[in-house]
Amino acid sequence: MKVTVFGTGYVGLVQAAVLASVGHHVVCVDIDQRKIDDLKKGIIPIYEPGLTPLVQEGYQNGLLEFTTSSEHGVSHGDIQFIAVGTPPDEDGSADLKYVLAVAATVATHMEQHKIIVNKSTVPVGTADKVRAQIAEVLAQRNVTIDFDVVSNPEFLKEGAAVNDCKKPDRIVVGSENEKSKKAMTELYAPFNRNHDRMIFMDVRSAELTKYAANSMLATKISFMNEMSNLAERLGADIEAVRRGIGSDSRIGYQFIYPGCGYGGSCFPKDVQALIRTAHEVDYQPAVLQAVENVNVKQKQKLFENLSDYFDGQLAQKNIALWGLSFKPQTDDMREASSIALMEALWSAGASVQAYDPEAMEECQRLFGKRDDLRLMGTKEAALQGADALVICTEWSRFRAPDFDLIVAELNHPVIVDGRNLYEPDAMEEKGIVYYGIGRGQSV
Ligand code: NAD
Repeated sequence: MKVTVFGTGYVGLVQAAVLASVGHHVVCVDIDQRKIDDLKKGIIPIYEPGLTPLVQEGYQNGLLEFTTSSEHGVSHGDIQFIAVGTPPDEDGSADLKYVLAVAATVATHMEQHKIIVNKSTVPVGTADKVRAQIAEVLAQRNVTIDFDVVSNPEFLKEGAAVNDCKKPDRIVVGSENEKSKKAMTELYAPFNRNHDRMIFMDVRSAELTKYAANSMLATKISFMNEMSNLAERLGADIEAVRRGIGSDSRIGYQFIYPGCGYGGSCFPKDVQALIRTAHEVDYQPAVLQAVENVNVKQKQKLFENLSDYFDGQLAQKNIALWGLSFKPQTDDMREASSIALMEALWSAGASVQAYDPEAMEECQRLFGKRDDLRLMGTKEAALQGADALVICTEWSRFRAPDFDLIVAELNHPVIVDGRNLYEPDAMEEKGIVYYGIGRGQSV
């Protein structure tokens, strides 16, 4: 099938490459000229396991094209995906300007029937706005062309995006139009052979499904973080509690890890946007608000641990930081806990020596050159001359480090572990002062 994807970010590029890998002919449109130039040279702007060979293969066999020409993009695809960003507005609601800009672009160039599929995460009612935007531009052009707007939210996880797209748990399609439903079924048929993953529903329900899914996952995390804070105060070990409750099949082991708060481009923004949506319909979402509040507080936890150890005297301290990305297997630092920690440390007059396997470039891009941030080539180099070690991201290479080296390099033998990678007893044996999450050393 002929498909066009607007936006070559984490969602658009992965989706386009995966669709091309099964034989669809996909044109990717982005307004970022540099990104498009790089993609044509085989340079992939993001780190996502398995993505580079997929994109290069698609480009070489001609099934994946990259362009900044929206005219070409619109004329190519019978299906037009919108996969552009929906960042939070000042009040927390999703900013739809990029989505509506694509809608206007499609309407400006379309000459025949198109199915416009919204993959961006957008508030309930956005499909109506996209439809209205297209209708308005068509009216200005004084033409009548049939079109349909479908909601097809994306559930991929950064760090496992290619696999998630190739083997989705479910494919949610919001549409009341039989022709569109048939086209979407045909488009996704190669991913639907093992068992039926298509879940059809009305457009508004599809839009809400995405927010409900992310909010449920964020709720699990904030709930566990709340339990971990309680465990600390009650002298319990949250890791034992985690195993104890995970064994209940109604709860399960997934997504109940306590930590230093959730980040990324989705959970914080989507929970905030859903809170905003609720307010618009005169509803006070007590659970969602608590999920958000707990998370904001949890992101300060590592700083509080350091402040506790150093009696509030953090000025001139040099802190080693392992892990910058918001989770492993990605270079994405959007809303990462590492940012909240670094900013708190800088405000207190401390400096940071950081290492991350993939996100160093992104960190450099975000913060530029500054005296209180040194990006180090290895995790060992980040320890040199540092006063304490903090872990923000559970990259596997941090799981079994040389603890003797850590003790030898640090000025103070203290580890603040935001991901519970180590055992408190083992740390005590090694003479390390260890702050985990919900495992003692209460602040
Ligand atoms: P991103 O910021 O990585 O990429 C967006 C891309 O869109 C950029 O390359 C930008 O240049 C491009 N763009 C902006 N305006 C454009 C226009 N008018 N025409 C063409 N291109 C344009 O965003 P992302 O992380 O891929 O997220 C996209 C959407 O998908 C968001 O709504 C997000 O909430 C949602 N989502 C993201 C994830 C994730 O893990 N990142 C998962 C599921 C859903």
